[in-house]
Amino acid sequence: MSPVDPVTSPAQHVPIARPFFGEEEERAVVEVLRSGWVTQGPVVARFEEVVAERVGAAHAVAVTSATTALQATLVALGIGPGDEVVCPSYTYIATPNSIVNAGATPVFADLDAETWSVDPAAVEAAITPRTAAIMPVHMGYAADSAALHDIARRHGLAVVEDAAPALGAHTADDFGNRAVGDSEGAVVFSFHPRKIVTCGEGGVITTPDGRVAEQLRLLRHHHMSVSDVARHRAGGLVFESYEDVGHNWRMTDLQAAVGVAQMGKLDRILAERADIARRYDEVFLGHPHLRRRRLLPGSSDAHQAYSVEVLAGAPLSRDDLMAALQRAGIATRRGVMSSHLEPAYVQRFGRLALPHTERVSGNTLMLPVFAGMRADEVDHVRASVLSALAGPRG
Ligand SMILES: *Cc1c(COP(=O)(O)O)cnc(C)c1O
Repeated sequence: MSPVDPVTSPAQHVPIARPFFGEEEERAVVEVLRSGWVTQGPVVARFEEVVAERVGAAHAVAVTSATTALQATLVALGIGPGDEVVCPSYTYIATPNSIVNAGATPVFADLDAETWSVDPAAVEAAITPRTAAIMPVHMGYAADSAALHDIARRHGLAVVEDAAPALGAHTADDFGNRAVGDSEGAVVFSFHPRKIVTCGEGGVITTPDGRVAEQLRLLRHHHMSVSDVARHRAGGLVFESYEDVGHNWRMTDLQAAVGVAQMGKLDRILAERADIARRYDEVFLGHPHLRRRRLLPGSSDAHQAYSVEVLAGAPLSRDDLMAALQRAGIATRRGVMSSHLEPAYVQRFGRLALPHTERVSGNTLMLPVFAGMRADEVDHVRASVLSALAGPRG
């Protein structure tokens, strides 16, 4: 490594995220290694119980990632070729990719300009006789569950909620204020390192429907009629059968062990993230050049990210602000992408125009928020953003 240049290297480096692991995760992994059972087994089952209990769902099924989980859920619901699924473009591209991977067609609906979640009116306008499901996204903060489930009920559609970054958030629907994950529809969470809690890679589907859960368990394991664990525990010989063509979408017990340990820290992680967001809000809410999403009444944000829009008329653009923060040693990311503008989707559908999606996506940036972020790091981000916005253009 070259020596650090004291002039150009920032005095402080604030990363966009930092893992939050301790001895609990280390012990859990060692225990699984010593047990001799490393693939999907008893610890995956335990992880599923913990997630289901946490969000108040009847069933939880773990698979390799949230992307797989979304695809698997569509397949389990019988949604595929010839079917359309309405989703936002303002999301990680995994959302529409999961629909394409299931053989169905994503139909992009625009954002609500204020809540930065898919606009229920745009969803309803996108419904055709081929529509089979709605796939709203909880981007850390909850989408408009009440309106979206109402549309789904009126049109007889399934709801598959992409809550990849929203573990711990709450949403308001006709039944009141509920944890994201406690829904009439299926809800998917991610355990990727950039999400609220992580196990390396992993996804979990929660559902109130035991038949959907059973279908997902078969799909992830080649439609094998008896689980590995049941076979090993059976006293005598057990021969399995394969009633249909399935997949290998299994999570490992090594990952699930990390997941269980992380779930034990979820409340602390959520509280730390909320505290950082509150300290940003103190100086950024009401700032003449910045805007944030409006939270829907009765809902909450798990603070997966702190996204803020740089308004037209600010002394510098979003990209210039990101560059200024980088010079101050602060890592940022562009806001959530406009999936419909990526070549993969322009090739399929042409250049769609989704004005609210493009405006929010093009002018927002994400500031660091992670459990374990120190107060001096938060202060440095606050001061650097304010000073950049106070300066002359350029
Ligand atoms: C991260 C993310 C995904 C993909 O999650 P993986 O577990 O990495 O597959 C899907 N949708 C949204 C909204 C995400 O933020």
